Amino acid sequence: TRRIVLAARPQGKPKASDFRLETAPLPPPGPGQVVLRALYLSLDPYMRGRMDDRKSYAPPVPLDGVMEGECVAEVVESNDPSRPVGTIVLARMGWQTHAVMDGKGLRRIDPAEAPVSTALGVLGMPGFTAYSGMRVIGQPKPGETVVVAAASGPVGSLVGQLARLAGARAVGIAGGPEKCAHVRGELGFDAAIDHRAADFPAQLAAACPKGIDVYFENVAGPVLEAVIPLLNRYARIPVCGLIAQYSGGGTPPAGPDRLPGLMRDVLTKSLTIRGFINYDFFGIPGIQEDFRREVGGGVRSGAIRYREDIVDGLENAPAAFMGMLEGRNFGKMLVRIGT
Ligand code: NDP
Repeated sequence: TRRIVLAARPQGKPKASDFRLETAPLPPPGPGQVVLRALYLSLDPYMRGRMDDRKSYAPPVPLDGVMEGECVAEVVESNDPSRPVGTIVLARMGWQTHAVMDGKGLRRIDPAEAPVSTALGVLGMPGFTAYSGMRVIGQPKPGETVVVAAASGPVGSLVGQLARLAGARAVGIAGGPEKCAHVRGELGFDAAIDHRAADFPAQLAAACPKGIDVYFENVAGPVLEAVIPLLNRYARIPVCGLIAQYSGGGTPPAGPDRLPGLMRDVLTKSLTIRGFINYDFFGIPGIQEDFRREVGGGVRSGAIRYREDIVDGLENAPAAFMGMLEGRNFGKMLVRIGT
């Protein structure tokens, strides 16, 4: 197998030398095991957290360990009759071309239902994150205003489309005119605003004339600061991601301490702020089936749109990953793995 390992723990932003491409022999599959060949590797912002040696909701990748990640893969050798050769599965095999894994526990993907790559995006972990965060915490109502950043990515794009389907106004925040045009035109948001614009806070206020009822938090930083004064009474904030601070090394940003002001707003405006990791909600009865039915149905009918950003070759995964953290991806970031 060819694989990418964590060569060094990044200080701040990851760099090329933090990763290393290796070739390693593959052990023969034992009883019940299968040999997998990766077709697509998903690159996700959470992987930045796994590169640091600090306490989080999941343990870090060890130094010289294979970078973690989910793949859509094909079974190429099988000792598991329920996962015959040719089966397409979802597998946490990491950043590598091949792996030996237990067949049991690998979710099958039906290529007839949707392109298999969607199992890593709109119909996979990011899609479920948007769906469950909106359903359980956001709870958009008709006429309300929902704001989300990273709006052209797999989580944000679905958040806004679900808001629209619920009858709410969707305001997306994205980096640059091209992404904003896509968010408005292709994804059908009511407005899209470039967070890099000098007058971003004023533009956001103008796009939310009735204030903000749901702020789906993907980024934190200056976007959050512009949102806070616009929050309505009883606003809900599903805290999903904080990408603006992932490479900050845990040091607080310069400037005044905004926590007392925020806490005052939490109290006086009766705000709900609730963090979540997508799998927190796996146990809600029927939610995964509802997600597959509603979002899967929407994708098949064209009512829900998604965009993928695909690079070829495992060796290009580190650059694509570093680019994604800076907003250079345009849509769900995937690596297509050759044979
Ligand atoms: P995206 O594909 O949207 O990629 C990340 C995007 O974040 C970039 O393209 C960029 O978009 C934007 N971004 C990066 N830095 C900043 C910044 N400083 N300010 C504003 N925007 C920035 O990622 P996903 O859709 O996969 O993930 C979105 C968020 O959801 C992330 O925070 C991620 O960690 C979180 N997440 C949380 C999960 C959970 O279970 N809680 C599960 C999955 C994802 P642009 O160019 O538009 O600025």
